[in-house]
Amino acid sequence: MKETELQIRVLGEPVLLKQAKPINKITEYHRGLLSKMSRLMYAASGVGLAAPQVGVSEALIVADIGTGLYKLINPKITKKEGVQVIEEGCLSVPGITMKIKRAKRVTVNALDDTGKSVIIEAEDLLSCVLQHEIDHLNGKLIIEYASWLDKIKMKKTLSAGKKGLKDEGLRKPKTEPKTL
Ligand code: ZN
Repeated sequence: MKETELQIRVLGEPVLLKQAKPINKITEYHRGLLSKMSRLMYAASGVGLAAPQVGVSEALIVADIGTGLYKLINPKITKKEGVQVIEEGCLSVPGITMKIKRAKRVTVNALDDTGKSVIIEAEDLLSCVLQHEIDHLNGKLIIEYASWLDKIKMKKTLSAGKKGLKDEGLRKPKTEPKTL
């Protein structure tokens, strides 16, 4: 697969709503995909990316909040604690940001790209990013957290986005919100 073939999939593409398949055997293909996803995430100034966002329905995510790159296979949340609200954006939902209530701390069990078990105890932003990306593996997008009133407000933005603001979500705002 050539670098240029990886593209961010946006709202409306069925792959974003599918349950991603767990990976039984990690191959060079998966390692290559994780590397390409990382490069795409950095190029898009995102802090996280899940395989369904590049059209691959497999349980792979990458994340980097500026403290180091995580390449995770079959990530699962095994513990949640506390509550935080962070304003989030999503590369697959351009033009929309939402304040989302999530766990403040999570423990995530996963495999790294060599197949070794890793346990990540994350809090604050990293916790938020991991929950957001694992949501993607479950076919869940940030708009599902919206109230019906928010959804009405978003409708206008989303239809405007389809017309001409295609790349807006790919740029990282100078401050919050985070694009994942
Ligand atoms: Zn996202």
